[in-house]
This record gives sequence, structure tokens and C-alpha cells, in this order.
Amino acid sequence: MSDCITKIAIWLVLLGAGPAFGEPAAKLSAARSVEVFQGEIVELKISGQGLSAVEAKMGAERIPFYPGTAGVFTALAGVDLEAAPGWAKVPVKATTRAGTHRQTRIMLKIKAKSFQQESFSVPTEFEPFSSEVLERIRREQKQFSSVFAVSAPQRLWDGPFLSPVAGGVTSPFGFRRVINGIPRAPHTGVDLKAPLGTEVLAANHGRVALVGDFFFSGKSLVLDHGGGLYTTYFHLAEFKVDTGSEIRKGDVIALSGMTGRVTGPHLHWGARINGARVNPFELVEKLARSSESPRQSNARAGGGEN
Ligand SMILES: [Zn+2]
Repeated sequence: MSDCITKIAIWLVLLGAGPAFGEPAAKLSAARSVEVFQGEIVELKISGQGLSAVEAKMGAERIPFYPGTAGVFTALAGVDLEAAPGWAKVPVKATTRAGTHRQTRIMLKIKAKSFQQESFSVPTEFEPFSSEVLERIRREQKQFSSVFAVSAPQRLWDGPFLSPVAGGVTSPFGFRRVINGIPRAPHTGVDLKAPLGTEVLAANHGRVALVGDFFFSGKSLVLDHGGGLYTTYFHLAEFKVDTGSEIRKGDVIALSGMTGRVTGPHLHWGARINGARVNPFELVEKLARSSESPRQSNARAGGGEN
């Protein structure tokens, strides 16, 4: 799995570097491209003189940037595991403290990832779901969508994410079964080994956005980490927190179980950012690497810019 983890792309676009503060029509440098695989995340950075706010868009999804040190704004962007490979244009809009707007764009090159796949045939399997069950499934999908539509505007998380349990991966991200020649939906999270009753830890700081019992995912919990970033925890036995609770990284939020449509105990862990379903281990590994960079020591004089 580690072989396919690409180096985190640090993306720097200079917005109107050079001209005096507040001068209109500053020249924008041409944005270069950044490569990212399906189901992965990329850190975007924008810097420029006197910026007060930066925001990008990926399709209809908003990507908020947050101010860091030395006037650099950063954002995390995710690419859905089923995103079409090819070029995606990410328009970026910046506002200066003088109130002027500047625009540029980042070109994302989405690369196809070869997810693990397994094909097999079985004598006609499941009975189709009853209309009652189908209605429940639709209702629950809407419930999840409405939770994913309202994220806290501020970034609640900090630093690399933790794996919520110590157990290894039993079913990888993106894994797809082809049964009787029909491809099933890909696996949108990772399954982690977790004997019944294992303590499940919050992967990072956040707020409990959803707690409930669902047809497929059983007892499920969604954490909102702010800025459109969520982690999900499925097939739980018991919740330790309520909707709306403020959570710190490492807090026990639930006990693992085998609720919902599963054949054995495990924890299904997922992540979602700007509407993209991404491998949650991206948040563990790439953010760990990016926090190794010496950005904190960069407290230079003349700062005071937030
Ligand atoms: Zn799973």
C-alpha cells in the first residue's frame, strides 16, 4: 500500500508578487499542474502579498484555505476514488486586505489508481430488497448527505490523524468485487481488524455530526473536522458520545462491533473531504509528512500577518 503513496505536493502560486500593496491588476503567475491519484489528498498552498482570504472550487465543492505563517494559505483537497482520470481545473479566488480580488487556477492531474479487485461467480445470490428496505436505504442516504452538506467553517483538526484502532487493514480502500460479472460499489473506506468491544478513538479533533443506526453501516458515527473534512466509523456496538459533542483527538468515541450488513466484527473507517471519498490513511501519512516541514520555526520578524 505504501508504494502508491505519492509525495505530498506542495503547491505554491504567487499572486501578484512584486507590486506595491493594494495596487490593482497585479500580475498573476501561471499556475502549474499538480498530480494526484484517485482516492488521495493533496495540500494546496497559495501565497501572495496582503491576502486576507483564499478559496478554491472543485466542481461544485468549496475548498477553504486557512492562513498559516508568513502569509501562506493552505488547503487540503481530495479526489474521489471514482473521479474520472484526467485534468481538473481548480479555480482559486483570493481577496486582499485592500479589498481587491485576484484569481488564478490550479490544474489537477487526476491519475487512475489500480485498486484491488476480485471477480467471482455465485449461484443467484441475494433476494432483492423489499420496497420498505429500499425506502429506508434512500432515507438514510439523504440523512448522510445532509450531514455532509454542513461542515463547521473553521478548521477543527490539527496535525496528522490517528488510526482509530490499532488493528491492521483487513479490506483495503477502493477494493471492488465483481460478482457474476457485475461490478459492485467500491469499498469507500478501510476495514480495520477490531475484536468486538474494541475502543474506537477519534482520529482528530472535531464535532460529532451524526450518530445513528443504519441499514448497511449499522451503528454509525460521523465526525466533522471542519472545512468540509469528515471521518466515518461504521458497524459499531456502542456509542460513547452524542451528536454535537466536541471531541479531542484520541478520545474514545465508541466501541467496535458488527452491526449492519457485515459478516464479522471489524471497524469500517472512512474519510471525506470536499465531497470526495478518500483513503483515511492519507490523513495519517501525508499530514505526518507535511508536519515534518519546519513551518513552525518560520516565525520571522515583520510577521504579525494572520
Ligand atoms: Zn468496510
